[in-house]
Amino acid sequence: MNATENYSIRVEPTQNSRLSQVDFDNLKFGKILSDHMLVADYDDGEWKSVSIVPYGDISISPSMSALHYGQAIFEGIKAYKFADGTVSIFRPDRNWERFNKSAARLQMPEVPEEIFMDGLSKLLDIDRNWVPAKEGSSLYIRPFMFGTEAALGVHPSKSYKFIIITGPVGAYYSKPISLKVETYYTRAAEGGVGFSKNAGNYALSLYPTQLANDEGYDQIMWTDAAEHKYIEEAGTANLIFRIGDTIITPHGDTILHGVTRRTIMELADKWGYKTEQRKVSVQELIDGIKSGTVTEAFAAGTAATITHISRIGFEGQDYNLPPVEGREFSNKVLNYLNELRYGKLADSFGWNY
Ligand code: PMP
Repeated sequence: MNATENYSIRVEPTQNSRLSQVDFDNLKFGKILSDHMLVADYDDGEWKSVSIVPYGDISISPSMSALHYGQAIFEGIKAYKFADGTVSIFRPDRNWERFNKSAARLQMPEVPEEIFMDGLSKLLDIDRNWVPAKEGSSLYIRPFMFGTEAALGVHPSKSYKFIIITGPVGAYYSKPISLKVETYYTRAAEGGVGFSKNAGNYALSLYPTQLANDEGYDQIMWTDAAEHKYIEEAGTANLIFRIGDTIITPHGDTILHGVTRRTIMELADKWGYKTEQRKVSVQELIDGIKSGTVTEAFAAGTAATITHISRIGFEGQDYNLPPVEGREFSNKVLNYLNELRYGKLADSFGWNY
């Protein structure tokens, strides 16, 4: 752990570990949190204290700026345990990079590598017994930051808290999902905050998603704000299609650039598939499903890696995709990443940290 002098990390170990009470065979996502958390405070233009302390409540002011004006961003990362006990985090450098892009867009300070990356290593070292060993399970890592200044008035907060909490999660085998192409509500517009992982992007998705659920769809397929003609992403995951012999993913500033999406596109390149990052219109997708050129469609994200898409609803009409068993590319990716993350394959990309 090479924390610099500037950011020496104070450690206050818990006196009451909760580890022995955890039922690792029954983990509900996000409900069980590990013994420790990393907390860093920013004030007066600099990061001041960084400490690892027992997980617990924090006190905030009712006038805290994030509660009113939404300067709040987060990340989602997973760590895995190899058979030999090694704990490996999957590509956290990419999340650190994206975190700071989100911060910049929301006029928040960047979090330096010594706090985000070295802090993460140190936190996981202390809570390494919380990383589940069972195949398919992992430790979910949630770094987040919010404005803490106690003052009403719309301006960038002068103080911030950066926190990392973690918790064990079980295997997540997602059933194939149905998507409703959203042609009225909008997640993100050009020039907006779609590429950033800020809390507001999730709040705004809840109501339209409930409407889609009421119509019998699992998730929304977001489309562009201007015309609702081009496909963006789905729920909390990116979209990837196989059209003809090409692996295609929508691109642009209105989508969150997922680490899983990037990983899958890099694998596709390496394996010799043709790949494209470009606009994909709803019409192209529907025509391709009808003619049979769209052979694979899935959502990609940290939670499930790949979630196959079985049905797409557009303007009151449902379109069914080919059976999951025959989806050569997506099944190959899923198997490859499952093995790589548990240390069963040589890490030729350097993705295991
Ligand atoms: N889009 C959105 C809106 C998301 O919340 C996520 C999850 N972070 C993703 C895409 C997928 O990103 P990643 O692969 O980095 O988890």
